[in-house]
Amino acid sequence: MPALRIGIVGAGSAVFSLRIVSDLIKAGAFSGSEVVLMDIDDERLKSVKTLAERLVSELGVNMKFKETKNLDETIKGSDFVINTALVGGHAYLEKVRRIGEKHGYYRGIEAQEFNMVSDYYTMTNFNQLDYFVHIARKVVELSPNAWLLQAANPVFEGTTLITRMVPEVNVVGFCHGYHGVDHIAETLGLEKEKIEWQVAGFNHAIWLNKFLYDGKDGYPLIEKWRDEHSSEWKPRTPFDDYVSPMAFEMLRIYGMMPIGDTVRNSSWRYHRDLETKKKWYGEPWGGADSELGWKWYQESLQKIVELEKLIAKLVQETPPLVKVFTKDGLKKIVGEGAPEEIVEGIAQIIDPDRMSGEQHVPFMMAITGVKPERLVINIPNNGTIKEIPDDVVVEIPAIVDKEGIHPEKIDPPLTPMVIRAYLYPRMTRMELAVRAYMERNIDYIKEILYRDPRTKSDEQVESVLGEILALPENERMRKHYGI
Ligand code: NAD
Repeated sequence: MPALRIGIVGAGSAVFSLRIVSDLIKAGAFSGSEVVLMDIDDERLKSVKTLAERLVSELGVNMKFKETKNLDETIKGSDFVINTALVGGHAYLEKVRRIGEKHGYYRGIEAQEFNMVSDYYTMTNFNQLDYFVHIARKVVELSPNAWLLQAANPVFEGTTLITRMVPEVNVVGFCHGYHGVDHIAETLGLEKEKIEWQVAGFNHAIWLNKFLYDGKDGYPLIEKWRDEHSSEWKPRTPFDDYVSPMAFEMLRIYGMMPIGDTVRNSSWRYHRDLETKKKWYGEPWGGADSELGWKWYQESLQKIVELEKLIAKLVQETPPLVKVFTKDGLKKIVGEGAPEEIVEGIAQIIDPDRMSGEQHVPFMMAITGVKPERLVINIPNNGTIKEIPDDVVVEIPAIVDKEGIHPEKIDPPLTPMVIRAYLYPRMTRMELAVRAYMERNIDYIKEILYRDPRTKSDEQVESVLGEILALPENERMRKHYGI
């Protein structure tokens, strides 16, 4: 069992931190390890550390946690560095979205065809891409053998950029979107053990190229469910779009089921306004990326952060012998009135009998030789998907073991419509965003906007970009592009 040093950058992240930290504790494989939690937000950092330390003591695990605001200290001597930071936070993204809307871009200029995910900013969140490159260079300088696990978005652009600008670094991008396969299987009432599947594409653009049930083609089962049940379908949350009308529309056009966030990333026709989104992504929200769906998500994140802080405070006041990290223990300390579904969510994260479903810790276990794993990861294509250049990062299944990463053969191949009508245009946008950064050429960013169906004039592009660039948060971006 290896004792490791693991640095988590952005450890206060509402989405990831507690899941990764509790996976590390629960994995039972890393006794004696040290986890360095790094964030710029003191309060979030303290809450995560308090919760982690209590979980460790309740589960009797030998693991140390350290908090820091210093990136070098996080990286130096680490075997793994996980980046989950969101520079500028959601508040910055909302500011940029509002400016976009003011200039005629519904849901902001980053809400693009085949890329509607609302915190996936490839053009205007320069600070995020810049931080990715900075971290990768630091890893090469301070811990050249470490693995950099890229969780923060944009994963497709970011991981591709890192591999091109810092080719010496061992980097892998992660996303949990492939769990969409499980959601489809669950909806169809299928037994998980009888399914054989593959997904392939880019991050947030993956397709179910293989779906066998009991050794036979499973696609007819999906189509049967669509024909018999889809009229009664209602989403349970804004993200519940796995078998939405949009998913089946994409199946009709591209010939394969879109998986995970891919469903969100349809073309502009399905995102024009709230009514259109509701038609394709279901009522009442119209999907995760509508004004209603994203508000729901932001409010949930806020509640998670607040509840984590509250639990951390209560934990400190609770005597060490009282077990907090059981469902009842948690309920007892937070008392009545705390949002039921969030308490339930946190209880599931810390449940000692289950892992979170994030792949970071299974990857660490696999690559250090504890246990080989089949994972869906983001790595340079290098021939895995024919017709995609080698230096573009693809999201594909791979066996990971102590010898390294072994991508599966993508068989059957993706349909020509997926490759040529979906992945190619998505790749073109990635190229423009990545090359803009690499060549310090803002014209490539403008080019993305000139091709946007919402753009009516060159002046519109100049004025929206001008206003975003003038934000105080974008000083480095202005310098980078010589503005
Ligand atoms: P969040 O704002 O709740 O958390 C981000 C954390 O980063 C905050 O604690 C913040 O203080 C910290 N931070 C900001 N600047 C920093 C810096 N310079 N150094 C260190 N820490 C810094 O955001 P979130 O909703 O948890 O999302 C975090 C990232 O994860 C986003 O990029 C999001 O798009 C991405 N994400 C990825 C997946 C995936 O599966 N890959 C899924 C969901 C979200």
